[in-house]
This record gives sequence, structure tokens and C-alpha cells, in this order.
Amino acid sequence: MNDYITVIGAGLAGSEAAYQIAKAGIKVKLYEMKPKKFSPAHSNENCAEIVCSNSFKSNLHTNACGLLKEELRMLGSLLIDIADKTSVPAGQALAVDRELFAEKVTSILKNEPNIEIMNEEIGDKIHLKDIADKGIVIIATGPLTSEKLSDEIKSITGDEDLHFYDAAAPIVTRDSVDMNIAFWGDRYDQERSKDEDIEEWKNKIKSIKKSDYLNLPMNKEEYEIFCNELVNAEVVELHQFEKREIFEGCMPIEVMAKRGIDTLRYGPLKPVGFTDPRTGYRPYAVVQLRQDNSEGNIYNMVGFQTNLKFGEQKRVFGLIPGLENADFQKYGVMHRNTYINSTKLLDNTYNFKNNTNIYFAGQITGVEGYVESISSGFVSAKNAINKIKGLGNINYGELTMIGALSKYISTENKNFQPMNANFGILPPLESNVRDKKIRYQMLADRAIEELNKK
Ligand SMILES: Cc1cc2nc3c(=O)[nH]c(=O)nc-3n(C[C@H](O)[C@H](O)[C@H](O)COP(=O)(O)OP(=O)(O)OC[C@H]3O[C@@H](n4cnc5c(N)ncnc54)[C@H](O)[C@@H]3O)c2cc1C
Repeated sequence: MNDYITVIGAGLAGSEAAYQIAKAGIKVKLYEMKPKKFSPAHSNENCAEIVCSNSFKSNLHTNACGLLKEELRMLGSLLIDIADKTSVPAGQALAVDRELFAEKVTSILKNEPNIEIMNEEIGDKIHLKDIADKGIVIIATGPLTSEKLSDEIKSITGDEDLHFYDAAAPIVTRDSVDMNIAFWGDRYDQERSKDEDIEEWKNKIKSIKKSDYLNLPMNKEEYEIFCNELVNAEVVELHQFEKREIFEGCMPIEVMAKRGIDTLRYGPLKPVGFTDPRTGYRPYAVVQLRQDNSEGNIYNMVGFQTNLKFGEQKRVFGLIPGLENADFQKYGVMHRNTYINSTKLLDNTYNFKNNTNIYFAGQITGVEGYVESISSGFVSAKNAINKIKGLGNINYGELTMIGALSKYISTENKNFQPMNANFGILPPLESNVRDKKIRYQMLADRAIEELNKK
């Protein structure tokens, strides 16, 4: 067994991981394919390159990503510290001077005596299997992992558990859905047969308290207004390298809607098998929400993978009766994204169950976003350090955002989609606090208190 740890990929997760390991007194071999080879989104030779927006999102604790950053500050994250030191004015958000940020991270990693940086593409001359046979490795090659390494990862995960694009539907909190309109039930479960008395049927369905699905019925007018706004809404421009792959793989709901006014009613909004409890009759269309976590406090919008701008998703999907005040924990996205089915393959320390020498970190694990990628680099590194030292696992607990995120990606979920930090993945408070801001502040206080105990 090697006395060093290998980290593949010097992006956000890999840079954080390499630093934490080196700081713990353990040698690191850090492989980065740049500048020999660049992904379609990378162009700078430095480590920790920020490929798109320069914002690390809000610093407020009432924002889930703000809480995650605060936790990472408390735990001693290098990248969040450098982000703070290279920040540029952006109101309540933490935005960075991206050049300075990457330069500073690179300089610290290069001057760290325990880190050896090697500019090689793993999967070309050096192979994952050979590294993992000899010691501990953290794979942090990101959403644009090179093709050769993707093939090697596929050989250990299996074809069906490595994905190449992310076509995710929005996720909303259950509390924010109007239950005067929404009703529970799987298709055909609560349907009234033609000759069944309405009052008798209403009594019967009272017993359907909860199923995996919440349904939002629409009448003709509501449906037509929604479709009209949907087809005219503003969409995000895809990068050139993303266009072909995404459209072959999955159809955004707004593209489907453009095929004709009835397309959605015969597709994801099909009303067959449902009766609207308010009328006793089949609705004109039905939007289904499916439970998304084991606690049942977040629900995803079935079939609503979309490329609409986030503000447009809030506006247009807010026209669906029952979602007027929906609290979106995650907006739908469609972009190129290499990620594994962590819910099956990883434990909550980002350790690969089939070969415990291997950890994954960053966006490839199904966490989504800069700060989330840093957080998984941090957790995987702490656990890899303990493994090489023969110590037990480190887990920050589900009450913290960093712990809840690792729990989410490693908990069985047939409909797994990449996930950013959000308050819906934390266990609810014991009391029901209706005011969202106060509730989030209380969840953040609880998380920080929990982390202080560790
Ligand atoms: C186009 C695009 C835009 C995005 N925009 C945002 C945004 O605005 N905000 C946000 O929060 N998130 C965004 N993300 C998502 C995500 O947060 C970032 O991709 C983030 O950089 C992921 O961190 P990471 O460490 O997992 O991967 P990366 O930061 O991409 O790091 C991976 C590193 O591994 C290297 N590598 C790849 N293959 C190999 C190999 N075989 N051998 C050696 N090295 C290899 C790469 O060169 C790279 O340096 C975006 C993603 C993409 C693809």
C-alpha cells in the first residue's frame, strides 16, 4: 500500500482535497491534465479554474449555499478562505476575482512540500486501475472528465451508472404546495368510476393521505395559459459543445410544448387515471410531483426537465395551480455533466463501495455547484486521511449542510439527480415555523451549533 494519496483533477474539489491531505502531513500526487489537454470549458493553466460565473452565491446564513460556506470556513477550507481573500464587491454574494483566485490556489499547492503536481491525463499512459491497486485515490475530474478516464470509470461503475448530461427537473418543498388544490395518489389509485356516487367516492378517497405522488389538476383555461407562457419563456443559451448531446438524450418540457397545444396533455401532464377531488371529474391536465428524499419534504416536478432561465421557471411554473407560492429548492437544468449514480455506488464519505481504495469528489459525485464541489473534496479528503492512518470515518451529521449533502447523494433514490445545497435536504425543525426566513435562520443556527460540537 502506497504511503501517499493520489488525487486526480486539480479543479475545485481536487485542489481542496490535495491541500487538506498535505496539511495532515501526508504526501499527495496530484494529477491534472492541463495544460496538455483542456476540457471544452477550461482554458486557464492554473488549478481551481472557475469555468463560468465568478459567484460563489450568497454569504447569508438564510441561504443554503451561504450556510455551506460558513461551515467550510469553520472547518478550515482553503478554497473558501482564498475566495474570501480574493472577493470583489457583489452585495450579499461572495464573488471572486477568478484569475487571482486560481493563481493563489495554484501558488499554495505548488509551494506545499507534501504535494507533487503532475500534468498527465489519467486514462492515457497512466491508468486508474493501476493507481487504485496500489493505494488510495480521489477522483475529482469534474463534469467534463476526459473521455479516456470516463471509459475507465465506466468499467468500474457499469454503463448504466455513469451519466454524461444532466437533465434535471425543478424541486420544490412540500410545505410550499397549496394543499387546497393538490391531492395525493398514484395514477388510477383515487380515480372515480363513471357510475360511482361523488359523495361516496369523496369519503373513500379521504383515506388516501399520502402516496409517492402529489398531483396538481388543471382546467382547460389554466392549461392553455400555462402552455402559452411556457413556449414563449426565455431559455438559457447552451454552450456549443453541449447542444447535440442534450437534445439527443432528453427533451426539455418547453420544446415538447412547442409541438402542439395538446402534446403535454398526452405526455407528462396526462390526466388519465385521476379525478379532481374538488369536482369529482377528470381534470383537463395534471402535473405530478414525486417525492425526492426519504424525509418526504422535497418533491420534483415529473417530466419538467427544462432549459428555461431560473426566473422564468419561477414565473411560468408558478402559473400551475397549487404552485403559486412554490419554494424552489433547485431549478431545472440541462447541461453536459459527467456524474456517477452515487446513491448506489458511494457511502456518505464519498467512498466507492466496490473498491474502498477509491473516493470520488466534486461534481462527478452528483453534488452541483462550486461550493458543493469544494465541500465534497473536503469530506473525501478527511476520510481518505483517516483511512491511510487506520482511523474511523468522519461524518459531519445530517443536521449540517455539508453532512446533509453527503447523505443525500449516498441515499438510495431511483430518480437521482445532481443536487445543490438547499434547506429541503436538512431534517425539519421540531416545531412548524411558517415564516421561511425565520425557519431557514433556525435551521442554519442548528447546523452551526451541531458543527461546533464536532
Ligand atoms: C460549462 C459549465 C458551467 C458551470 N457553471 C457553474 C456556475 O456558474 N456556478 C456553479 O456553482 N457551478 C457551475 N458549474 C458546475 C460545477 O460547479 C463546476 O463545474 C465545478 O468546477 C466543479 O468542480 P470539480 O472540482 O468537480 O470539477 P472541475 O473544477 O471541472 O475540475 C476537474 C479537473 O479535472 C481535470 N481533469 C479532467 N479529466 C482528467 C483526467 N483524465 N486526468 C487528469 N485531470 C483531469 C480538469 O482539467 C479539471 O481541472 C458549471 C459546470 C460547467 C461544465
